[in-house]
Amino acid sequence: MKIGIPKEISSGEGRVAVVPVMVSQLKRDEHEVFVETGAGIDSNFLDDEFKQAGAEIISDAKDLYQVAEAVIKFQAPEVHPQLKKHEIELLKDGTVLICSLPPQKHAELIPMLQKHKITTFAMEYLPRITKAQSMDVLSSMATAAGYKAVLIAADHLTKFFPLLMTAAGTIPPANVLILGAGVAGLQAIATAKRLGARVEAFDPRPVVKEQIESLGGTFVEMEMPEDAETTGGYAKQQSDEFLKKEQEAIGARLPKVDVVICTAQIFGKQAPLLVTDEMVKLMKPGSVIVDLAAAEGGNCELSEPNKVTEKYGVTVFGKVNLARELPTHASQMHSKNVTTLFKHAFQNGELDFEDEIVKNACITHNGEIINEMVKKNFS
Ligand code: NAD
Repeated sequence: MKIGIPKEISSGEGRVAVVPVMVSQLKRDEHEVFVETGAGIDSNFLDDEFKQAGAEIISDAKDLYQVAEAVIKFQAPEVHPQLKKHEIELLKDGTVLICSLPPQKHAELIPMLQKHKITTFAMEYLPRITKAQSMDVLSSMATAAGYKAVLIAADHLTKFFPLLMTAAGTIPPANVLILGAGVAGLQAIATAKRLGARVEAFDPRPVVKEQIESLGGTFVEMEMPEDAETTGGYAKQQSDEFLKKEQEAIGARLPKVDVVICTAQIFGKQAPLLVTDEMVKLMKPGSVIVDLAAAEGGNCELSEPNKVTEKYGVTVFGKVNLARELPTHASQMHSKNVTTLFKHAFQNGELDFEDEIVKNACITHNGEIINEMVKKNFS
């Protein structure tokens, strides 16, 4: 296949969907790879490296979209700022497109993808099964975001993270509270522990207790809901009663906490509100909250997407897509994930719609909606 890797056009996006080492692998499988000039520059992958890996560099995005039979990109398609045309309209009809397709964008994009008979794979819709782990972009990006969230907090905190015993006295370790112990939360626990903090974590899924403890964190015990988890491993939406109890348990800890890292999410829904304005008042001045759920409404009432808010002496970072602040490794991980999916989906030339990975991750094909959940939303 002729595979095109365009430069991302979304504002602030410096990652590239496929890195040179994966271009070599695609070439070995007898695909041709076309990369737009400067596609990897912001993540430190230069055009020369792509060339050495066997890619052809194309300077005009329009030409790249015209030549490609499959386009692999990071972000969902949007209007190209220079070409003044939607990326979906730049694709040839029938092209394969592998990218992100968040549920909030479905109403706008899916009818266009159907109209142009694009075969779309959305990385968010991979089933969370062992076989798909090496394709799981959500986990890769959550890993980068969880790590970076702690570094932002540590950088902004006016205190040390570790316990220090110095000639100038003993400094206690920072107290870090992690809300949500999925992939991002677990990486945040690991990072905060490596920096020497004392770490506690909340999550309604009891299965994570062992994972938190294996990283040296403390699982905050509370009365757990009976069926907290979907069959796919995601948290179910919790009752108002549970959230109220959880807020009380969090509120009881906030006066002692220096840093809160918010990672609690419910797939496809608003994030649960766990720290209200009133609760932020309970924190010590100088404390820091980093909210990775800011785009989904935030776990903290004060967080706003991509803004820093200061209230009651507490600084709240509302972070969206934080993985892009680690563009080199985020690109490298994404690259491995998407090429593994590409190889899996097209291993026999034809798509197998009985395959669990294909039937979930494929959103549109030949004008039809394939993923059952998405299809239901459109019927
Ligand atoms: P996510 O981003 O949807 O949610 C983050 C965390 O928020 C989850 O742990 C969730 O339980 C938690 N949460 C939800 N409501 C909360 C609340 N009220 N208070 C506190 N926390 C709350 O989840 P994720 O990190 O993408 O993954 C969740 C799980 O999916 C993993 O832990 C794992 O079991 C599974 N998973 C499987 C695979 C695979 O097998 N391929 C890959 C990745 C993840």
